Amino acid sequence: MNLHEYQSKTIFAQFGIPTPKGKIATSPDEAYRIAREMGSPVVVKAQVLTGGRGKAGGVKLARTPDEAHDHAERILGMTIRGLTVHKVLIDPGVEIASELYLAVTNDRNARKPLIMASASGGMDIEQVNRETPEKIVREHINPYLGLRDYQIRNLASGIRLPREHWKAFTEIAYNLYRCFTENDATLAEINPLAILKSNEIIALDGKMSIDDSALFRHPQLAEMRDLQAEPSEETRARGAGLSYVKLDGDIGCMVNGAGLAMTTMDITKDIAARLGYEGSGPANFLDIGGGARAEKVATAMRIILSDPKVKAILLNIFGGITRGDEVALGILQAWNEVNPHVPMVVRLVGTNAEEGRAILEDAAIPNIQSATTLLEAAEKAVRAARGVQG
Ligand code: GDP
Ligand code: MN
Repeated sequence: MNLHEYQSKTIFAQFGIPTPKGKIATSPDEAYRIAREMGSPVVVKAQVLTGGRGKAGGVKLARTPDEAHDHAERILGMTIRGLTVHKVLIDPGVEIASELYLAVTNDRNARKPLIMASASGGMDIEQVNRETPEKIVREHINPYLGLRDYQIRNLASGIRLPREHWKAFTEIAYNLYRCFTENDATLAEINPLAILKSNEIIALDGKMSIDDSALFRHPQLAEMRDLQAEPSEETRARGAGLSYVKLDGDIGCMVNGAGLAMTTMDITKDIAARLGYEGSGPANFLDIGGGARAEKVATAMRIILSDPKVKAILLNIFGGITRGDEVALGILQAWNEVNPHVPMVVRLVGTNAEEGRAILEDAAIPNIQSATTLLEAAEKAVRAARGVQG
């Protein structure tokens, strides 16, 4: 789960990281009132769950409350990378001398947390990493020992931080690591960590992602989930007990079991590449879980079909406690309701697979083809998505 900037900065503040004392507005009038109370200038910042807001015009400096009103009017309702802005953060404006980058995340390959710092803050860090990776200083953290003093010194000297800021930087780095671990975060990022003309160091922007599987032990974080701001399919999927992640491809995948779902995605992507279908591949990750009944299968199907990018559906079910006949009934239920125009390839094996296939054959839906192996199914789905009959 991703948190908004204002939520992340509230948490940072609880962990002793200096942040601007901002307030949220949902209307231009509210922005005006907050700006007047706060004293000008202020910064009006779009709260959407994506980066690059600055470049998209979602971060604006306002010299007067009237300007704050006008910026809020323009930013509220704006679309940034496909997400609509419903809230703006009004932060007191500050005078920046320089911008740093500081973040903690998990390095899956090293199987350790990683703390990273850069003097090239305020920019798109992925771009810095591509073009000048040497400008990012990295230290892996041994989770049993925690973040050590010498590692922070390595970061500070690696980014050529002036000595006078080392004490403040050290405290922020410690607190950010504590904030990361104690909240079961997968990312805690400050970009920029600004050095102000007044010489203070302050987290001007914040981004946190929390491990969904750990939310049960952080009820106060779970409550921060902004349903309005995340893709609606993901909200619906979670409500139905489905694991669903939206991706960019054209083939909707419906699978039971996370491992099988990932295999299905990999093979689909691979076959699309081998057939030379640039950009073709999985439109989603979807695990319907074990023992899904017809209603759950139908919900999953509706969610997949609500994505206009989906040009074909690949259904790969390995029946164990999930029964092929239940899956087939779910497919028919959803198919009759949604009446989709996209083709579907079905691979059913395992428990009650024959019964399932018989149900689908009896229904004789022209858009549905079946396959025996996963390779065959994926190839048929990729071709079907391109309008080529397999
Ligand atoms: P992002 O583009 O989504 O990462 O949004 P940020 O919160 O990082 O803001 C983008 C840029 O706006 C920052 O890198 C700063 O240069 C600038 N900015 C943000 N807050 C202030 C502020 O209080 N004063 C000034 N002068 N600039 C700010
Ligand atoms: Mn930023």
